[in-house]
Amino acid sequence: MIKAQQIFAIQFRRLPRVEGAPGLVLASIDTSNGASPPRKIGLLTDVALRGRLAHYDLHTANEVAAIRKALGQDNGRVTVYEGWSGLGSCLQFWHGFGGSQVQPVEWICEKCTASNRADVGASVGEIFARACKCGTVKKITTTARLARAI
Ligand SMILES: [Zn+2]
Repeated sequence: MIKAQQIFAIQFRRLPRVEGAPGLVLASIDTSNGASPPRKIGLLTDVALRGRLAHYDLHTANEVAAIRKALGQDNGRVTVYEGWSGLGSCLQFWHGFGGSQVQPVEWICEKCTASNRADVGASVGEIFARACKCGTVKKITTTARLARAI
């Protein structure tokens, strides 16, 4: 059966680095042809992003290299286009990708006691850093079901 395909614009932006480590990549999807702000998918580590881009061979090696280059600097942006049978399957793929699902991560800042929350896709065992609004950095290890602040 051939399903009608819709083309979705998926946007990536590299967040500023945190204590020398590359920032996460903010992934969002334009569901309205630019009429309203893009819908956030979540924050991805480089491993999580690479896994998704390599899956199904949707993107050529040249395209993957261009994406990596665009995201090589803080606040670098790039948009890729993917054809899906609908928004639901597109979001499910980007959100629920095996091994690095996007999950809520919550932690309380030790310095200012603010509660922080982020939706992050990372592979198990990966450590990433997030900064609180006050600037205090928290290192977070990804476990099988939930990311855990250490
Ligand atoms: Zn804080």
